[in-house]
Amino acid sequence: MTAAEQRPVTALRGVGPALAERLQHLGVAQVQDLLFVLPRTYEDRTRTVPIGALAPGMRAVIEGEVQLTEVAFRRRRQLLSRLADGSGHVTLRFFHFSASQQAGLARGTRLRCFGEVRRGPLGLELVHPEYRRIAAEGEALEETLTPIYPTTEGVAQARLRSLIAQALGELHTAGVRDWLPGSVLASLQMPSLARSLEYVHRPPRDARLDVLAAGRHPAQRRLAFEELLAHQLALTLVKHTLQAAPAAALHDPAGLEARLVGALPFALTGAQRRALAEIDADLGAARPMVRLVQGDVGCGKTVLAAAAAARAVGSGAQAALMAPTELLAEQHWRSFDAWFRPLGLPVAHLHGSLPARARRSALETIASGDVALIVGTHALFQEGIEFARLALVIVDEQHRFGVQQRLALKEKGDRAGETPHQLIMTATPIPRTLAMTAFADLDVSVIDELPPGRLPVRTVALAEERRAEVVARIESACREGRQAYWVCPLIEESDELRCQAAEETAAQLAQALPGVRVGIVHGRMPPAKKEQAMAAFKSGRLQLLVATTVIEVGVDVPNATLMVIENAERMGLAQLHQLRGRVGRGAGASTCVLLYRRPLSPIARERLAAIRESNDGFAIAQRDLELRGPGELLGTRQTGLAQLRVADLARDSDLLPRVQRAAEVILADHPDIIAPLAARWIGDGERYGSVG
Ligand code: ADP
Ligand code: MG
Repeated sequence: MTAAEQRPVTALRGVGPALAERLQHLGVAQVQDLLFVLPRTYEDRTRTVPIGALAPGMRAVIEGEVQLTEVAFRRRRQLLSRLADGSGHVTLRFFHFSASQQAGLARGTRLRCFGEVRRGPLGLELVHPEYRRIAAEGEALEETLTPIYPTTEGVAQARLRSLIAQALGELHTAGVRDWLPGSVLASLQMPSLARSLEYVHRPPRDARLDVLAAGRHPAQRRLAFEELLAHQLALTLVKHTLQAAPAAALHDPAGLEARLVGALPFALTGAQRRALAEIDADLGAARPMVRLVQGDVGCGKTVLAAAAAARAVGSGAQAALMAPTELLAEQHWRSFDAWFRPLGLPVAHLHGSLPARARRSALETIASGDVALIVGTHALFQEGIEFARLALVIVDEQHRFGVQQRLALKEKGDRAGETPHQLIMTATPIPRTLAMTAFADLDVSVIDELPPGRLPVRTVALAEERRAEVVARIESACREGRQAYWVCPLIEESDELRCQAAEETAAQLAQALPGVRVGIVHGRMPPAKKEQAMAAFKSGRLQLLVATTVIEVGVDVPNATLMVIENAERMGLAQLHQLRGRVGRGAGASTCVLLYRRPLSPIARERLAAIRESNDGFAIAQRDLELRGPGELLGTRQTGLAQLRVADLARDSDLLPRVQRAAEVILADHPDIIAPLAARWIGDGERYGSVG
């Protein structure tokens, strides 16, 4: 290790314990860590801009002579100073100023200023610019572009910049350890780590700001590569750690899985059978499965969860299914109950409105092992349930279930000290190369086929003015015995207002549609009321369900064939696709109406076009990636790639195959470099600390 890697930041001049603690928020503990606090953006202070060439929004260095300085009273007392350079003049405006400052801006003084130009009442102006007096013959400007770092409370930009400059000084004397093996480096053909760091912290004055802003400079790409690699390796270690624990091998001597599958009213699709074979192989091994089943909405993931659960129960163990919402948990419980009751197996349903006594007795049957199948929300499972022999945990909708929770499950090991197998189901389609890095802690099965007979959902976009036509369409669908969803706008800021808006919409629709039985679900209803409404809709007693986006995930009512989404222009592609997936689940032809309000922004127009043109979740995900980056797509906060500093999964996706090859080499031949790489790039050591 180099000196910089071993030295705490407190070794630097002026860094005491208080500052060191604040630096922790930036992931900085050692001097070397400062090198990896990377600029968010840059400013060009290497040249002056003629005042006459300024435009609003520019951040620029200007030089000129003070023509006039005066105190003005426009609502507030303020100091105005006019600066001119022969090409034009500009106003400097200060709301806080001292008498000496005023004196220092006397007519004839030469100044150099830096600030953001904006339009003011007197023409262009700079409010509270940085400035200093300069000699008549001029002074040297900055030699490199000025980095702007992500700051944290109590560490100002200037302070951080000077600390990083000190660390860069050490980079020159002590160097920085390049952990990547020679073979990987040779195949990369990228600048060295030290040169890359030097470049991104101090780009030369002729560096192209547009290239840097786009993250396309080779120095940035070199760092992005290492960052992605570090994350992938760390996630892979998470997986290894999980799988190093013992697990029950589930061979299902009772043959329960085969019985359940055999009793289904349909045959599994080829894609379902392939995924189930992978699951079965994992469950049959004595190490924990950590498998993600990824499949578009409606492809039939729930039945695979049931089959896996049957294998666990047929092996004398328990299985638990966790859903992100009460609504989904309820629905899964109904599906499981329908499939398992005929086999003589009760399914426990843990939910928020269970009376204390019922809950206690449910917990007892779970602890005693009398009940083998348990369905509930994530929250309920966090409240200390004891299992007799929990061998399988199924998690629906992966994007709300992160690495941390996966690791925590290891602790939930049963009395025999075995770690449960984990099956995670998501409808979020992730391009394969992306998944290999972003979900390196998981094995992935893909269901790329819908059950036969499904008709693609026809999607139309209509302007808000045609609302009456849409309402008429609901009426005729309901008259034909079909059901419909109406999803309310997201435009209200608060959850409360959104729910209020949903109530109002429901009332209006009920009035406009006297022959239609209208119900409502939203986030602020008590769980029991939500379940009632859902059950009524599912059974057909309600014909139109007005909802906020709580129905986004997983709700399954095959008879619903019409979906109306209000203010669709405000929603992301992934969300629209999820919502639309609530229809087209039965044999009837379905329609999705996207109501939008004018004017449409270019990106909203693109999104609506993309969703109209395709029903394929993977194609939509790819488009989403191009339009807005992977954040929403992956729910990145939940992946191990939460805080990327330089890399961007969408922009740098072409690096991923190389990242993956390098990860293989390192895992096979250089596992010892994983810990230092992860420590360097993944700030919160605790997440992977126990893993290294
Ligand atoms: P998702 O993958 O979105 O969770 P579900 O598991 O809710 O999808 O399945 C959607 C619907 O398709 C359910 O009504 C389910 O019973 C049905 N289904 C699942 N697999 C098949 C199949 N192979 N053939 C016909 N219908 C199926
Ligand atoms: Mg589902």
